[in-house]
Amino acid sequence: MKFNKNVGWIFTIMILIIIVTLSKGVFALEDEEVFIKNGSRDKKVIALTFDDGPHPKETNEVLDVLKKYDVKATFFIAGKHANWYPEPLIRTSKEGHEIGNHTFNHPDISNLSSSQIESEILKCEEILLKLTGKKTTLFRPPYGSYRKEELVNIAQKYNYKIVLWTTIDTRDWQNPQAHKIANTIIDKAKNGDIVLLHDYATNNTVQALDILIPAMIEKGFQFVTVSELIN
Ligand code: ZN
Repeated sequence: MKFNKNVGWIFTIMILIIIVTLSKGVFALEDEEVFIKNGSRDKKVIALTFDDGPHPKETNEVLDVLKKYDVKATFFIAGKHANWYPEPLIRTSKEGHEIGNHTFNHPDISNLSSSQIESEILKCEEILLKLTGKKTTLFRPPYGSYRKEELVNIAQKYNYKIVLWTTIDTRDWQNPQAHKIANTIIDKAKNGDIVLLHDYATNNTVQALDILIPAMIEKGFQFVTVSELIN
């Protein structure tokens, strides 16, 4: 009898473990599908992404380095900066890079109402469309901050994919030394990663690119846009 009782307990605990594991798996899958943090892990491809531009100095310098190595990247644009500095955005689009929506005013949207979030996205969409002639399908919330269900609904309504980034964070906006930014990526980047960088208010990102791009190419990686990475 005692043996049977123990078996009963073990069986119950095993069932519970299976249920918890399965439900976690389901939620993880759901998250992965809606919030894009990486592409396929099968191929040696990574996507460089630049947030918060355009900026007349930094964006142009980033574009010069990308051009030097014939690399395409993705730029998440703050609409108000595009309003101030249209030229570097127009150049970015013309040179074949992908453009994403990063709101107009760059607020923390987790503090905004749904209609305010919609207005931020649509105002940015409007200026991007005006300057590049294209409607982007990528949206990245500033600071990676959002209320999940609400943002998913808004993204679906306006046909956006929500793009975050892989966990490696160079914190380039805090202006660490170029080799530090570069080495973080060179040492940690994996197949399918989406790398977060900035082309606004950064000093050393451009120099870091000049180190990390040839090093990653040497390691056999290919740089692609976010849409190329996830499709
Ligand atoms: Zn940002």
